[in-house]
Amino acid sequence: MHSEGHEGQPANEFNRNEVMDKLVALCKRRGFVFPSSEIYGGINSCWDYGPLGIELKNNIKAWWWRSMTWLRDDIEGLDAAILMHPRVWEASGHIAGFSDPMVDCKLCKQRFRADQVVEASCPRKPSVAPGTAGCPGELTEPRLFNLMFQTYLGPVEEEGARIYLRPETAQGIYVNFRNVLLPSRQKIPFGIAQIGKAFRNEISPGNFIFRSREFEQMEMQFFVKPDTAAEWFEYWREARFNWYLGLGIRPQHLRFHQHSSQELAHYARAAYDLEFHYPFGWRELEGVHNRGDFDLTQHQQCSGKDLSYFDEATRERFVPYIIETSAGVDRTLLTCLIDAYDEEPERVVLRLSPQLAPIKAAIFPLVKRDGMPEIAQRLTAMLRPQFKVFYDESGAIGRRYRRQDEIGTPYGITVDSDTLIDQTVTLRERDSMAQERVSIDRLAEKLRELLS
Ligand code: ATP
Repeated sequence: MHSEGHEGQPANEFNRNEVMDKLVALCKRRGFVFPSSEIYGGINSCWDYGPLGIELKNNIKAWWWRSMTWLRDDIEGLDAAILMHPRVWEASGHIAGFSDPMVDCKLCKQRFRADQVVEASCPRKPSVAPGTAGCPGELTEPRLFNLMFQTYLGPVEEEGARIYLRPETAQGIYVNFRNVLLPSRQKIPFGIAQIGKAFRNEISPGNFIFRSREFEQMEMQFFVKPDTAAEWFEYWREARFNWYLGLGIRPQHLRFHQHSSQELAHYARAAYDLEFHYPFGWRELEGVHNRGDFDLTQHQQCSGKDLSYFDEATRERFVPYIIETSAGVDRTLLTCLIDAYDEEPERVVLRLSPQLAPIKAAIFPLVKRDGMPEIAQRLTAMLRPQFKVFYDESGAIGRRYRRQDEIGTPYGITVDSDTLIDQTVTLRERDSMAQERVSIDRLAEKLRELLS
């Protein structure tokens, strides 16, 4: 539930332009996200997740993992190595083609993605786009730039030892198709899900954690019979949209953008970007792609290993088509924060859905006497094995509530003078601020109900 602002709009509609700045500040101040290596001035577009950020991130990943691998029996999990045989990237086309055309400014030496240069601003004259009228510099012709980070395997930095940090997790899934298929005894259609780091030497990173050079992906590749691919593609498109609704993202902030024939990767049969309405515009949050048999055919050819599938029921052999769902963890986290951010006259509230909230309940003694802190600490110890909880006894109770509202803690539990008489506590809900009395005996059960 979002509080209503002007003209029936959710309150955070009318200050959306400022939301990014406010969120970046909140993330720093409250320990969600801060620049990597900050004491050395930071390193461009790498971010560190602090105590609350890592809780939120873990909750997002766990929610995805649960939806993919626990709630269904046709998807298996995988955790492949980041470093892979360099021929993987030849087969996948990344060595030849994973590059964005870029332009350089001859004056300020800044580099921009050619397709995004109109949206960028000239470092010398921020009111105009680089290379447009009024910009003092001149741009080069677009040139290709490979986005993969390179390093060397072993002690000798020679050409033959050159390897890459993976720019996507998907290839780890494709090359392990048979390794997962055989022991799991799955039959097509089935999928493989993986969460892991990916690295891209992006030309124009930015918008906080939206586009960084080191990020995490949640990818699920679903292997299907070719003549069912179109159907499964629609199925996954809908399923992924609904997954974000389940995270509490408002439907009016989500839409699909279908890739036109110019945008489609050469191997793709169909592709949609699931887009979110960020304060800086509609942008991709997740890609859902029908990749045809491109990936397995390529790896089959380059490795010389048979990656076809024999369907016992129909006695047919074929190379499976792949429906890919590819989401960014960091981008989902940013999306959840933006969608949850709200301001009221007296408080800032992160209306995160409870399953995502870094801390599920905060426990307060109303005052620091009459045995209230001891009871509140006992409650904390009782709840701790089941929920991430937080004990706080410092400052006025109103301030303590507001500190929790700002980080999205859905429940506040207060021990007060009535507790001493009847063994009940106040349970306060973050969004409505409604309070009810709950008996200490029932507290854990009640929280479990509310959070499930
Ligand atoms: P974009 O057009 O934004 O560069 P893309 O089409 O290259 O994205 P994919 O290769 O489809 O993205 O990657 C799948 C998902 O991984 C994206 O939808 C996004 O959530 C995430 N992702 C990709 N690149 C980055 C990045 N540099 N930083 C953070 N997340 C990223």
